[in-house]
Amino acid sequence: QPRTAVTLIGLGPMGQAMVHSLLAAGHQVTVWNRTASRADEVVAAGAQLADSPAKAVAASDLVILSLTDYQAMYDVLGSATDELKGRTVVNLSSESPEGTRRGAEWIASHGAQFLTGGVMIPAPMVGTPDAFVYFSGPADALSPHEDVLARIGAVRYLGEDPGLAQLMYQAHLDVFLTSLSSLLHAVALLETGGIKPTASIPELMQTLAGIPPMLAVGEDFGAQLEAGQHPGHLSTITMMGATADHLVEASEAAGIDTDLPRAVQAHYTWARSRGYGGENWSRIIDAIRPYAR
Ligand code: NDP
Repeated sequence: QPRTAVTLIGLGPMGQAMVHSLLAAGHQVTVWNRTASRADEVVAAGAQLADSPAKAVAASDLVILSLTDYQAMYDVLGSATDELKGRTVVNLSSESPEGTRRGAEWIASHGAQFLTGGVMIPAPMVGTPDAFVYFSGPADALSPHEDVLARIGAVRYLGEDPGLAQLMYQAHLDVFLTSLSSLLHAVALLETGGIKPTASIPELMQTLAGIPPMLAVGEDFGAQLEAGQHPGHLSTITMMGATADHLVEASEAAGIDTDLPRAVQAHYTWARSRGYGGENWSRIIDAIRPYAR
């Protein structure tokens, strides 16, 4: 029995992986990409290549975009606005929440439903059991297409505000990007002590992997943050702040970047200056969110 037709525009690593997952599930997939040669592999696997964005949009009720940003959406769909009417556009491209809301208005002005999404896994994991994707936008736009979208990853719906899926995506990347930079900062620091990356990375991984169990121990971390409680019985701002100072000094002495450790140190400096020295390190959240002080 033929499954739903789907159009996918944007064949970077993510778009290509999505096409393969949709084809494997039996969907009829129409694709378009600015650089046509990037479609070769998915066409060989069974996708249809449209020769214009307008024809690609016209081929399916569900149109998925996997582009670098929302400017690319305007560039591509600008020539296909007549075909948008009555369709559902799902944009899985990165954008600021504000830019996403403007994009939602633009799509709606052409008579289409709009969902935004944040794909939380790299291309090789698309369609695997560990894959998940945040969506936001009108719930009634999502429900008819949920089964198809689940071929990319488990659907996690956040609410009507189109900016929410981006906010969640960026929050994850906040953790991800700063962790990656801090990992490489630590690798560079150890290099100055003669410890090479092949040796340092397995050591440092223990700290990365150790954070989830550390946060899960004892009291509920989220509930404590919500309650504004920062009990310092296991670690204090004074202790962690001294460590943050030492990290800046060590980075300076090693001649490596000090901006990253200084940004962290500033959180502790703020907390110490406000008299929070005896509280848990989590008090630095108030250095980060001035609106809540
Ligand atoms: P790429 O940057 O490799 O591909 C982006 C696609 O956008 C390409 O098809 C490119 O076309 C197209 N594009 C960019 N600008 C324009 C434009 N002005 N006009 C027309 N087409 C344009 O991205 P990825 O596949 O890596 O990622 C896609 C989205 O998914 C991004 O928003 C990214 O943030 C997100 N994401 C990526 C992950 C990853 O691991 N790669 C993981 C999770 C999310 P062309 O081929 O012609 O250059």
